[in-house]
Amino acid sequence: MDISMQTIMGVLITHNHNDHIRGLEVLTRKNSLPAFTTDKIWESVLSPKNKISRDCIREIPLLQKFHLAGFDIEAFPVCHDAPETIGFHICAGDKKITIVTDLGHICQTAAPYIQSANLLVIESNYDEQMLMNGQYPYYLKARIKSDHGHLGNHQTSAFLADIISDNLSHICLAHLSKNNNSPEIALETLQQTFSQRGIVLNGEQRISILNRNMPTDMIRLIE
Ligand SMILES: [Zn+2]
Ligand SMILES: [Zn+2]
Repeated sequence: MDISMQTIMGVLITHNHNDHIRGLEVLTRKNSLPAFTTDKIWESVLSPKNKISRDCIREIPLLQKFHLAGFDIEAFPVCHDAPETIGFHICAGDKKITIVTDLGHICQTAAPYIQSANLLVIESNYDEQMLMNGQYPYYLKARIKSDHGHLGNHQTSAFLADIISDNLSHICLAHLSKNNNSPEIALETLQQTFSQRGIVLNGEQRISILNRNMPTDMIRLIE
């Protein structure tokens, strides 16, 4: 994104699955970057294979604010099949950002953090039909659909239809499955759900579908 690594002040880690930490060792080592997550997640991340320098390890509490780079950040637990998985609620001034990927359902602890966001990055992992008709073995389909797996397009859309208000200025659908989803289908499901529920976005509200392999354009919450 043409951002100098010198301006990056930390990395936030949500859980130990490989698609989230594969680059962590190199990233922290090359840039002496601190990485932040809970002690339980660190326990599950660190292994003889994954040698993160002690200097880069920062432990953060659950459900308690910590301060980083001018932001107040709070980690909240979500339901997913890792030893522990968290989402992040990031506040700067009166703007709130919530980032939540990898959750099987939206539990009561996570809901308020999601509902109060101005900018929400939320998983819309799979299209239900594509998943069920696809090539994955049954146990994997069951895992993905379970309460500790991932959110499907209809689940995410229905939840967003329940909570949307003028407060929510930007929705980013994220963590789309390569095999069981497409940006077009995820967007169409959300738009259809909104239209069935009579929800019309105000002129300022934006929906983005985050690309799996490319950085997202900068989103400015404050002009
Ligand atoms: Zn995961
Ligand atoms: Zn993931």
